[in-house]
Amino acid sequence: MSSEVPKTVLISGASIAGPALAFWLNRYGFAPTIVERAPALRDGGQAIDVLGTGTEVIRKMGLLGRVHEHSTGKRGTSYVDAAGKPRANISSEVFNGVGAGGDCEIQRGDLARVLYEATRDDVGYLFGDSITSLTEDENGVHVTFARAESRSFDLVIGADGVHSNTRKLVFGPEADFLRHMGYYISIYTTPNLLELDHWELDYNLPGKIAGSYSARGNTEAKAIFAFESAQLDYDYRDIEQQKRIVADTFADAGWAVPRLLEHLDDAEDFYFDAMTQIRMDTWSKGRIALVGDAGYCAAPLSGQGANLSLVGAYLLAGELAAAGGDHTVAFARYRQELLPLVEACQTFAEGVGKWYAPPTNSMIWWRDVNVRLLPYLPWRGLIGGAPQKVARTIPAKDYRAYETAPARKP
Ligand SMILES: Cc1cc2nc3c(=O)[nH]c(=O)nc-3n(C[C@H](O)[C@H](O)[C@H](O)COP(=O)(O)OP(=O)(O)OC[C@H]3O[C@@H](n4cnc5c(N)ncnc54)[C@H](O)[C@@H]3O)c2cc1C
Repeated sequence: MSSEVPKTVLISGASIAGPALAFWLNRYGFAPTIVERAPALRDGGQAIDVLGTGTEVIRKMGLLGRVHEHSTGKRGTSYVDAAGKPRANISSEVFNGVGAGGDCEIQRGDLARVLYEATRDDVGYLFGDSITSLTEDENGVHVTFARAESRSFDLVIGADGVHSNTRKLVFGPEADFLRHMGYYISIYTTPNLLELDHWELDYNLPGKIAGSYSARGNTEAKAIFAFESAQLDYDYRDIEQQKRIVADTFADAGWAVPRLLEHLDDAEDFYFDAMTQIRMDTWSKGRIALVGDAGYCAAPLSGQGANLSLVGAYLLAGELAAAGGDHTVAFARYRQELLPLVEACQTFAEGVGKWYAPPTNSMIWWRDVNVRLLPYLPWRGLIGGAPQKVARTIPAKDYRAYETAPARKP
């Protein structure tokens, strides 16, 4: 950037998209600050895939080794019956991706920590705070916070997830952009009760799936519960209410479900949300823009949330650098470059639910037959490679020409 004073950018949200954006902005000479509502970096969440162009972005950040240190190393999944007997097994290698070309599966919390550690020395982090108002004029955006003193920034970016506060403040109610995919998902950490060795067990009932997989070198496990449902009326900040929804939905289920539910009340990293997509005609208004789930969540069913956030953050920062900080040019180019990937990921998520949590017993049986046959099918590569193909819909553009010495921590 030519300007001597780095452009100040406030980013709301410190999960995947926010720190990834700050990393690149810092490298191009901007001065990013991140505000995160949680009092500290949030742990928890599912294992997520870093694939395709998302892997390329991590490689360009110089973080591929760090990400691989946290690889889950999951070897495969068994679908079991109520007695725990495997009905079908699938090796992770069938979805040849994880491992190929640097692709990797990692716990969401671990990826967030790798990104945080790569940025915390250069980026200002404000934990335990939230934006309360945004007022824009020709010179910048005046921001008030719940706790910190109000300040002005040149640009503000919402990286605050599917229930984005920034989106609500600037673009309007969530309901205008939210598309319910018909499922809810919950995940939390338990002891490795089932003594799993880099393996996942899943048990289906019509329209429901309960599972457990070992995590962090088999020292712990994640319990997953997902179910088909029309939109539920609940407070997404009321964790106790959400725990009751999960417990009631799986109250009569067999297999190891009662043992997994015993750890629900104590779960500190409990996550529950609808599988939803965010669809917007624009991701920016004036000096304010959205990145990651806040602007274009593809739903957990897509398996592409981390990629979208990583690639979106990379392109947004790169286009801002390429436009010399001119947001009017950069925000439009950012959308133009990223939209094919967003559309591919959102389309990919359609129909995955019927495979994941089939709605009838006969469809569960049919899914298991398919899983058993998959390794022997001549077109297994097409099915197994589909997530990678989607993740490579667009390449990682080259913005190296705009890299400067990083700006000082604001
Ligand atoms: C704790 C947690 C668990 C998750 N578990 C799963 C999972 O199991 N499966 C799955 O598919 N996806 C999960 N996700 C979502 C997944 O991380 C995203 O789909 C994807 O990685 C995109 O990341 P993102 O950075 O755009 O949004 P997110 O990862 O959702 O991060 C948004 C961040 O913004 C913060 N934030 C929210 N409101 C405010 C505010 N008012 N002010 C400041 N900060 C705010 C949040 O605390 C969070 O750190 C989880 C997210 C979180 C935060």
